[in-house]
Amino acid sequence: MFRAIASRIKQGHRTTPYPAAPLQMPERFRGYPLVSPANEASEATCPYGAYSKESGGCLDMGKCLFCAECPVGTIQFTTDYQLAVTNRDHLLVHPGSEHHHARPLPPDLRRLFGRSLKFREVSAGGCNACEADTNVLSTIGWDLGRFGIQFVASPRHADGLWVTGPVTEHMAKALLTTYEAIPDPKIVVACGACAINGGPYIDTPQVCNGVDSIVPVDLYIPGCPPHPATILDGLLRILNKIKG
Ligand code: SF4
Repeated sequence: MFRAIASRIKQGHRTTPYPAAPLQMPERFRGYPLVSPANEASEATCPYGAYSKESGGCLDMGKCLFCAECPVGTIQFTTDYQLAVTNRDHLLVHPGSEHHHARPLPPDLRRLFGRSLKFREVSAGGCNACEADTNVLSTIGWDLGRFGIQFVASPRHADGLWVTGPVTEHMAKALLTTYEAIPDPKIVVACGACAINGGPYIDTPQVCNGVDSIVPVDLYIPGCPPHPATILDGLLRILNKIKG
């Protein structure tokens, strides 16, 4: 018993001070992309259709798997993890375009969810990577509960739907049924490239190309999988707990 207490004291406070203090991501982290104007060297194509030469060069962060197999000289990844948005179009990055962030929910929803926001998660055919990085947020290192955000077992007890995976044909009905079981008002989060538009499975007949083909989405969190910092940034921004 004394050994356990001594060990706990020695470990100290383990939860990240974020958002009170900024996060330092490792250099190899692939975050917000800087897109160069399209040129001859950008002839090769992205294997997942995330990059196009249209409008002088465009990267769709919703489709991007951050694999770094980009056409030569087109994209440079920064270590900025703040990628979540509330408007799907804001995931399109052009040379010199504005870096958009998730916007706060309307005041009436913030009043309801600001101190207690419960999600029911639906894994709609994903590989478990997005689920794993979502689960990390509930560990001592991130302690999502300190913001009043938790995952619950029943949609009847939830304020929102949290979706991972490309939404396979077989999961589409379950997703819709879960959405309908959550009382109004409710919000929907699409976590990861698959949930945003099918990820590497886009346009295959067995998937529905993401959540917003079935239910409306309030928060898009890009990445394959998104880093926990990216997820937390999006959640705190819609609750207006991070500004700027
Ligand atoms: S990182 Fe991968 S998915 Fe994203 S644009 Fe480059 S090649 Fe395409």
